[in-house]
Amino acid sequence: MDKLVLFDIDGTLIGGKHGHPKSFGDAIKAIHNIDFEVDWRDVQGMTDQQILTEGLLKKGISKEIIQENMDKYMIEMKKSFNKSIVNSTIHLFEGVKDLIIKLKSGDVLLGLVTGNLVSIAQAKLEKLSLWKYFDVGGFGSDDISRTVLVKLAIKRAEENFGFKFDNNVFLFGDAPQDMKAGKEAGVKTIGVTTGIYSKEQLENAGADFLLEDLKNTEKVLKIIL
Ligand SMILES: [Mg+2]
Repeated sequence: MDKLVLFDIDGTLIGGKHGHPKSFGDAIKAIHNIDFEVDWRDVQGMTDQQILTEGLLKKGISKEIIQENMDKYMIEMKKSFNKSIVNSTIHLFEGVKDLIIKLKSGDVLLGLVTGNLVSIAQAKLEKLSLWKYFDVGGFGSDDISRTVLVKLAIKRAEENFGFKFDNNVFLFGDAPQDMKAGKEAGVKTIGVTTGIYSKEQLENAGADFLLEDLKNTEKVLKIIL
């Protein structure tokens, strides 16, 4: 396996409505009994731990208390998300399945780098029959920093698959934070404008390549292979 290709999930591979934003509010209600609402557009590109931390700090909860309760928030979020997944309208963006299958059949390792907790990422992608294609990942349950998540995914590829990191890792994402994290981790970044951000925003954040979507498999493969 001489290449590692990493993907963000929301806005990059999938779209649609789901209970992920509501799971933050449910978790915080359960632990602190305070009302908390997440506007999904406001938190694109942020990791789940970052959304919890920044939101709770604004509500006057101290960093220490937030840290202490982090595992509990994650457990409550998963419970909430599980209840809502049947009613979600999530879907894969056009071209995604073809691209993943083509990459998988080549000499390429596939990974996820997402701010989603691993349990929520898995639930979303299992519902869309895509989870099984990914070999490694860095998830929002692993760390608050997206840059660390990129590095973790690479480390897991090295440890579990004998991968050698040498200018051969690609990261797809729809948010400036994806591009920034990728550059900080030393990988090649591909910005896709299927989320809420423009080409300019992704370019300014350090995108090495820009695509409108992942529909044209051959065009995408040309960047990687
Ligand atoms: Mg995204």
